[in-house]
Amino acid sequence: MDHFLYQNGQLHAEDVALSTIAEAVGTPFYCYSAATLTRHFQLFQEALSPLPHLICFAVKSNSNIAVLKLLANLGAGMDVVSMGEYMRAKAAGVKGEHIVFSGVGKTREEMRHALEGGIRQFNVESEPELEALSQVASALGVKAPIMMRVNPDVDAGTHEKISTGRKGDKFGVPISRAREIYARAATMPGLQIVGVDMHIGSQLTDLAPFEAAYTKMAELVGVLRADGHKIDRLDLGGGLGIPYTRSNEAPPLPTDYGAMVKRVLGHLGCEIEIEPGRLISGNAGVLVTEVIYRKTGEDREFLIVDAAMNDLIRPAMYGAYHDIDALIEPAAGAPMQPVDVVGPICESGDTFAKQRALPALQAGDRVAFRSAGAYGAVMSSEYNTRPMVPEVMVSGDHFAVIRPRPSYEEMIARDRLPEWL
Ligand SMILES: *Cc1c(COP(=O)(O)O)cnc(C)c1O
Repeated sequence: MDHFLYQNGQLHAEDVALSTIAEAVGTPFYCYSAATLTRHFQLFQEALSPLPHLICFAVKSNSNIAVLKLLANLGAGMDVVSMGEYMRAKAAGVKGEHIVFSGVGKTREEMRHALEGGIRQFNVESEPELEALSQVASALGVKAPIMMRVNPDVDAGTHEKISTGRKGDKFGVPISRAREIYARAATMPGLQIVGVDMHIGSQLTDLAPFEAAYTKMAELVGVLRADGHKIDRLDLGGGLGIPYTRSNEAPPLPTDYGAMVKRVLGHLGCEIEIEPGRLISGNAGVLVTEVIYRKTGEDREFLIVDAAMNDLIRPAMYGAYHDIDALIEPAAGAPMQPVDVVGPICESGDTFAKQRALPALQAGDRVAFRSAGAYGAVMSSEYNTRPMVPEVMVSGDHFAVIRPRPSYEEMIARDRLPEWL
């Protein structure tokens, strides 16, 4: 459920017409709904209760500090994968003890920074990383709380680029070696084992791979406890998928996911952590863009819009589908025509949709790409020296710019000319 609906013939974010924001901010822009973010977070809270749990929002899906602060105010922890994300979480007021550090390539500098600033745990992905972390923590005179990210060798059945729990994937350590690696970790002076971690992929639309992975996790907890390790906490990762189109069957809801978690892992007496990103932020955001030209090609019509692949790369990178809605509600029974919706960049990949049925839109009309709140703004770039797309947050009947569009002067001023030129 989200809060982007037509009211009086105009697409709104909660009680603000998106065209009102377009006039104030210009296009393109991202718009997030505070009520939708809140609702999605609370769905997970309810789904996991009464198990002791912490929902650590995957910062990589949407890292604007206004989004992080809103979620932190509701009780969210954060899952970060870099020092930059750690610093964003801190800037949003999140305490170190609510921040989990994931990622296959944590540097010593990142480890030191997080140990000094406070950390709930590191999710460690390899033995060399264990050694490095133990050394860094020992040098600081502390013990780093850790979980190993265990790769359960489960096929998440999702897109190749976002599947992470199979044998050949670069993530985690193989479950077949977990015992041996935990035994080694227990001997390292700078580490304190606190639990077990898994994350098998993103945009999963079926609970079966999660259940297969968590069943293996439950067995592993028994084995590790029998070996004398204290396993009090389980991090189940993120990855629950969202509907990218109204016309498909919806993926499982957090409630179904929570019921499965309780059934498979509830008896272990562990505190549960989850790291959802997309399910919280994805359908809480839209990208609004304006048609620059309508162009008639040899065998098709094109809508050339002012957003491009640098603003929303998912269609180009993953072949992702986003619903597209006109900001002005089409009249009932208005004829729909197939068009290719493309950006202005000189690459064929700069295509948002092919032969999409849309109302007869003209230059100056605006549309919203739905489900753009996750892996949207965070993956944007300034390719073609196009200014970073601004972000806006709506709450009720008001909105705020939470990242302004930089000026061309600001962009260019970041470059430096060497004195010998
Ligand atoms: C990407 C990622 C997530 C979030 O995935 P979603 O599909 O957005 O829920 C959580 N944990 C880890 C370790 C990740 O890499």
